[in-house]
Amino acid sequence: MEKQIRNFTIIYKEIDSSYIDIIMQEVLKEELKIINFFKAKLHNSPIYIKFWDNKEEFKKHIVTSSDIKKNIVPNNPCGKLAKIDDKLVINLLSYKERSKKNKLDEIALMATTILHELVHIYHAEARGHKKTLLWIKEALATNLAPQYSDQDLKLNCDYKDLINDCQDYKNYYTMGRYLFDNCDHNYILELANNPIFLVNESENIFYKTKEYLNQINKTR
Ligand SMILES: [Zn+2]
Repeated sequence: MEKQIRNFTIIYKEIDSSYIDIIMQEVLKEELKIINFFKAKLHNSPIYIKFWDNKEEFKKHIVTSSDIKKNIVPNNPCGKLAKIDDKLVINLLSYKERSKKNKLDEIALMATTILHELVHIYHAEARGHKKTLLWIKEALATNLAPQYSDQDLKLNCDYKDLINDCQDYKNYYTMGRYLFDNCDHNYILELANNPIFLVNESENIFYKTKEYLNQINKTR
């Protein structure tokens, strides 16, 4: 089945039809915040959202050999962005499959997964698809989505690990939280859009985030 909602084309099965509208309502509302953050315009070509109701097929589809090589395949992936023949596709595990893992049993979390991937789409376009550090990509995605807002902040890697893609999203989220709580919008946007500026600022941001965490822990 296929459904058109604003700039999205949604591909799904009968089993998903009862909750698509609920998820998309949340996505449409929150997408505008992402667009405003990047000072962008609504995505002009359609973004596809494909729901998968078979976990094994889904995994086979989203995991590439380069992901395996770089060891960046999460144990339980629930969503991933792909570019297929110039089409942007957000692949998503259906509720039927997600709910088998009790941690992922909320429909609201499916909207968050879509929003996380949308941040990556708008961010890549805002920086002209330039290569950049992973920490800023995930700091923006986890804060603008927002995914870890109910959890304690932490930064338990050293600076070298951070810039070598330590892969701990909570560290990235915490760096992002420092930025959003303390820094000017245009400064964060410059970090997002200018990889050279980002490299020059990263070490300072890392230690500022550590200080910020110390402060928060002291006032508790
Ligand atoms: Zn991400």
